[in-house]
Amino acid sequence: MHQAKNNVPFVSLSPVNDSVRAAFASKLSQLFDASEYILGKEVLDFEEKFAAYCNAQYAIGVNSGFDALKVALKVVGVQPNDEVIVPAHTFIATWMAVTDVGAIPVPVDCGIDTYNIDPDLLEAAITPTTKAIIAVHIYGLPAQMDAILQIASKYNLKVIEDNAQAQGATYNGLLTGSMGHINATSFYPSKNLGAIGDAGAITTNHSDLDEAARAFRNYGSVQKYVHQSIGINSRLDTIQAAFLNLKLDYLDSWNNERIQLAQLYNGTLHDLTAKGLVLPYCPPNAKHVYHLYVVRIAKRNELQQYLAARGIQTLIHYPIAIHLQQAYAQLGYKPGDFKIAEEIAETALSLPIYPGLTIEQVHFVCDAISEFFNS
Ligand SMILES: *Cc1c(COP(=O)(O)O)cnc(C)c1O
Repeated sequence: MHQAKNNVPFVSLSPVNDSVRAAFASKLSQLFDASEYILGKEVLDFEEKFAAYCNAQYAIGVNSGFDALKVALKVVGVQPNDEVIVPAHTFIATWMAVTDVGAIPVPVDCGIDTYNIDPDLLEAAITPTTKAIIAVHIYGLPAQMDAILQIASKYNLKVIEDNAQAQGATYNGLLTGSMGHINATSFYPSKNLGAIGDAGAITTNHSDLDEAARAFRNYGSVQKYVHQSIGINSRLDTIQAAFLNLKLDYLDSWNNERIQLAQLYNGTLHDLTAKGLVLPYCPPNAKHVYHLYVVRIAKRNELQQYLAARGIQTLIHYPIAIHLQQAYAQLGYKPGDFKIAEEIAETALSLPIYPGLTIEQVHFVCDAISEFFNS
């Protein structure tokens, strides 16, 4: 315990993955026996179970969160040169899925409290070529879906939830992944529900979108060697599905553990808010599942170094606002265009949070932050 206390990693996947290790080994052996390597029962079981978990009608397994977004954009009919509204502050995959289908990402700035897309700025970004809005539930806090859905319906736009960071979160009692027309999630290993490699899924309540996505991820095939449309290969790997099937049973308890750790951080760090430390915000109508526990502080880089010197690993999500990344230079944005996104990039710091992180470790981190403020 003493050793763990003096070395707090940003994340450890062992506590969650070890809990299914033995069961997974025997499942793997069954897959060998059945020679079940592509799609098959494991994938269907997982799709059914994940749809039920999200309270959505359908789930379609794909190869990654990126592919889930890309397939979602394709099947709602986003065409080259269409505009798709994206949050200025997100992981860059959200934007890259839009550019990958040939469409144009149109950023909208975020709330300085929620870090999610600001619904009050949405209407000004809508043009006659806008086709869809991607609502990202950043860090595990759901975006303001009621306002987003209302504006989308007024302008006849599709809503795609990017639920990569928020599996199990709720907004007005509704689960993320059940509110948009079609929704994407990622099972990247460190996500709240993580695979042991790349994996992702789409959820929807629309049977036509389910059918289109199911075909598109498998070469446009509705039946073996019958192709009604052009598709790609982005099938959820059967081994990943087997692993996820085992882990999904624990997701709620792991999310609850994250919430308890976040509450411990909130309570312990509260006094420092008077000195300029900004803690995560969660409105009363949302359940935040703390994929990340992000604080903000003007002297962010100094705090990060101070913690690193004490064996506490932190990360920055994300250090460069996407509109200022070289990858998107062709869009022509400049510093100042999305002030909140830039402010987050300059001041956000993600503290360690994961199921298995101990109360002592959280206190160790909080004590170090206190000392930083007093030094
Ligand atoms: C992780 C993530 C993705 C991409 O998922 P991959 O499985 O890595 O392709 C997309 N959007 C957000 C917000 C993410 O956090």
